[in-house]
Amino acid sequence: MFQLNLGLENKNVIITAASKGIGKAIAKIFVEEGSNIAICARNKDDLEETKSELLKLTDKMVIANQCNLTKTASIDNFFDFIMDYFKRIDILINNAGGPPSGKFDDFNINDWKNAYNLNLNSTIYMCKKVIPIMKSNKCGRIINMTSVSVKQPLNNLILSNVMRAGVIGLTKSLANELAPYNILVNSVCPGYTFTERVRSLSENIAKKNNVKIQDIIDQWQSTIPLGRLAKPEEIANVVVFLASEKASYITGTTIQVDGGFVKSLL
Ligand code: NAD
Repeated sequence: MFQLNLGLENKNVIITAASKGIGKAIAKIFVEEGSNIAICARNKDDLEETKSELLKLTDKMVIANQCNLTKTASIDNFFDFIMDYFKRIDILINNAGGPPSGKFDDFNINDWKNAYNLNLNSTIYMCKKVIPIMKSNKCGRIINMTSVSVKQPLNNLILSNVMRAGVIGLTKSLANELAPYNILVNSVCPGYTFTERVRSLSENIAKKNNVKIQDIIDQWQSTIPLGRLAKPEEIANVVVFLASEKASYITGTTIQVDGGFVKSLL
């Protein structure tokens, strides 16, 4: 039988914010491909539970450290922890939680700073840590998780719309700067994906508008040509492919995985 060998066995991979949702789905596929993985998240119990689940699937390394990505000292700590186990870093997946929903008038300047720290600064800071190592190895992959909002801003998600656009600027600039070192940098933009974040987002909107949660989900689904939300593993498959040897000529791209949601040509 023909098999697409992704060449990910024994690669050392960092996936941030991976105790749940899309990050966890990404971690699971890397584990299934035989990679060693380092994961973090804010909640220690959820993180330990995910680590135990993943360890059942592999005899490779699964290491986990509690980290709040909004705090650089916490990222420093996570990184020191990783370097006790990994001698090199092959792949970095920058994922995080999402900022709160709302419009311009809903947020003060502190909310903007928090969103910056969560989505843009965490990505910059992780890149600062990992790029010198990748440069000395003359290879590496960085995949920054954003959202379809970078192609089509979403109503009532202004913090996300703004910060994620910054991540795309970073992705494209790094792709240009790091190509001579054979470091490939891309961004993946999930559309509506059925995770805890989306469940709680739909609950909040339903409560605010006094309608059923299913009504909100039905309304989202009606905007998606494929007529359904994504499963987290459908996003993760694309991320893992981009990290693989088979994606050796792809850098600087911003790829949506959205069931056709984005209406623009490109
Ligand atoms: P989720 O809520 O299911 O999981 C989020 C993960 O991030 C958890 O592991 C949580 O512990 C971790 N996390 C949150 N804040 C953190 C912090 N400060 N420090 C460390 N870890 C933290 O979310 P998800 O749906 O998997 O979304 C992941 C990312 O993708 C988010 O940025 C989200 O906005 C974005 N996104 C999601 C969708 C979607 O429909 N689910 C669509 C587009 C973009």
